[in-house]
Amino acid sequence: MPHLTNRHVRREVNAAARELEGGSHPSQLMNAVCECGRGGCFERFQLVVSAFDEAVATEGWFLVASGHEPHDDRPVRREAGYSFVGPQASKAQLSDLRPGLAGID
Ligand SMILES: [Zn+2]
Repeated sequence: MPHLTNRHVRREVNAAARELEGGSHPSQLMNAVCECGRGGCFERFQLVVSAFDEAVATEGWFLVASGHEPHDDRPVRREAGYSFVGPQASKAQLSDLRPGLAGID
């Protein structure tokens, strides 16, 4: 049996919750469990399924309850009751945020 980290187990739980509760509407609320990865953490919070889908779609991003941000993951975005954590936006994404700078002499 492959080793799964706590947070990957939680992600499986949340993916199942998304299927059961989320339906097809992006603004539907679902209950998620914290993906901070600490053993024994089953903190729960609510979020819209579109936010869950965003975290799933972004490599390395996890959803944690507010205050559970791991020290080695910087919060990417804080929401009411939970945060996205994971790698910050890539250099390519950052350059998209600052258009025109590269072309200045
Ligand atoms: Zn937690």
